[in-house]
Amino acid sequence: MTEESSEGAMDAARAALKKHFGYDGFRPGQETLVEAVLSGRDCLGVMPTGAGKSICYQIPGVVLPGLTLVVSPLVSLMGDQVRALLDAGVRGSYLNSTLTPGQQGTVMRRALAGTYDIMYVAPERLADPRFIEFASQANIPLIAIDEAHCVSQWGQDFRPAYLGIGEFIDALPKRPIVAALTATATEKVREDIVSLLGLHEPATVVTGFDRPNLHFAVEQLPSKRKLARIVAYALNHPQDSGIVYCSTRKDVEKVHETLVEAGVKAVRYHAGLSVQERTDSQQAFVLDDAPIMVATNAFGMGIDKSNVRYVIHHNMPGSLEAYYQEAGRAGRDGESSECLLLWNDSDIGTCRFFIEQEVENEALTPEERELVRASQRRLLAAMTGYCLTTRCLRGHILDYFGDESAAECGNCSNCEGSYQALDVTLQARAVMRCVQELRGRFGKSVVADVLHGSRSQRIFEFGLESSRTYGTLPDDSAARIKEIIEILASEGYLQIGEGRYPLVGLGVRAREAAVPEFSLAMKRPPERITRLKGAEGASAAFGAVGSDAPKKAKAAEGLDPMDAELFERLRALRKRIATEATVPPYVVFSDAALRAMCLARPKDEAQFLDVQGVGQKKLERYGEEFLREINA
Ligand code: ADP
Ligand code: ZN
Repeated sequence: MTEESSEGAMDAARAALKKHFGYDGFRPGQETLVEAVLSGRDCLGVMPTGAGKSICYQIPGVVLPGLTLVVSPLVSLMGDQVRALLDAGVRGSYLNSTLTPGQQGTVMRRALAGTYDIMYVAPERLADPRFIEFASQANIPLIAIDEAHCVSQWGQDFRPAYLGIGEFIDALPKRPIVAALTATATEKVREDIVSLLGLHEPATVVTGFDRPNLHFAVEQLPSKRKLARIVAYALNHPQDSGIVYCSTRKDVEKVHETLVEAGVKAVRYHAGLSVQERTDSQQAFVLDDAPIMVATNAFGMGIDKSNVRYVIHHNMPGSLEAYYQEAGRAGRDGESSECLLLWNDSDIGTCRFFIEQEVENEALTPEERELVRASQRRLLAAMTGYCLTTRCLRGHILDYFGDESAAECGNCSNCEGSYQALDVTLQARAVMRCVQELRGRFGKSVVADVLHGSRSQRIFEFGLESSRTYGTLPDDSAARIKEIIEILASEGYLQIGEGRYPLVGLGVRAREAAVPEFSLAMKRPPERITRLKGAEGASAAFGAVGSDAPKKAKAAEGLDPMDAELFERLRALRKRIATEATVPPYVVFSDAALRAMCLARPKDEAQFLDVQGVGQKKLERYGEEFLREINA
């Protein structure tokens, strides 16, 4: 395509964006990717959940002549995704195993007749001879590969069927443009995406990892206190929709049961439930019938619910990638939302155990398995570092993902000083000396016992009471010393080894801890906050919120009372329309769009169309009712 015609194509793309989705412009990353595709270039987009990856292929799908194929692993969501497209006036379709063979035939026949602009398929479909035959006859200008990291064994969601995509593309009579999109990809995974999907010199965009509307908070809590904290949070935010992630099914059951007992309408989701139960839970959550979803990480991949106001992690996940992806399911509509991570030392232990556990994976040789483990250990160290860091949580995340575009930090519990920094430089020096003396032959607990001067049997068994560093930190508890060891390890001063009984040795930066300028701080929650949370927890245990009046919906925060009142009315209207049409409320309008309506107070159809999030189709469909409500 010439430069001029690609400019013309961008104009068409912007017009389509306004017409179908009601948006005034592309976000920076979207602009680059859409432009690349429309000028015939492959591309790789790495943007976090909520950054708006779908637009990057949906708009070209509308603008380019022919049928754009979207490969997605999320069969259960295709129906919703296509419904949202149809609602925006885009000719979408899907082809998957939920359709009968007869229906599938009809969809393919219509597609060949030019009925659709976009078709969603699962990766497995690309190996189906009937589909290959169909694809070779269709005019396919673009293949978009969603969740592209699934092609890599180094990622967390490896799907062997993704390996067939490259071959499928090669077999097509005319090679389409290939656009790969993912929310999370380390360097290694990015390389795999390019080589295994056969991208040709792709335009690559890594942006938008900053989510300014998300507030990040980390709280170290004993396991017992985590439950009370979650229940109190839920009771204090009765209007809001939230997700609670747990690392095990057992924890999901426990948290769910406790919430229900406290009178909160929560649903649950994990792989141990029947398909029916899972579908029902998901449905209830997405339709805003149940405000809270308690789930393992089996829930949420691709869940397109834009008004999730908070994500609480009951346990620390195994990587910052996983954490940020899950936490990022909050606030996809751009409204302020909370990401709260609860953790304690036993979470780290559980993650280590999972990594070292022999997992039967026939696809990997023992060497490969060890490589995978080593990479998982690195991921875990970064996650632990996030829990322990005293600097800005947002800054920590953005550094990790290599996004340098974010201007400033803030909006996190560390920046707000929710903890007291405790200088533990002396303790850290003692730990370093002790590890050096013990020559990396012992684990975290023994090191802590030696320093604390414990009189336990194993100390005497190994004759450690005569070490030079024995009893040098009598005033620090073993738990605190262990935490200092974790901080030192997360920053590379120490190294925590592998196996079921990980040994503590010196890390690559060990020498830097010996210079006079070295200092180390750790977080201590101030006493007052600790007590406050205890009180919140206690009232939660009695199923009440105490004197704390329930807050209004988080999305309505920042609106003045008049606007907030309208917001609630519009929300109710949206819910009624959504229920009648049996679609999720966000398909009608996002929270952000409702908010914009409250602020703009449109008087007529033209003004209504000017509101962000209102497209032509939505105006036709809902304009009248919403205008009536706004002007009532
Ligand atoms: P992702 O697939 O990256 O997780 P989505 O494509 O689901 O993100 O988009 C997230 C939200 O952002 C959606 O509510 C979407 O409508 C909105 N959005 C996307 N692009 C724009 C834009 N250019 N302007 C305003 N809102 C947008
Ligand atoms: Zn911060």
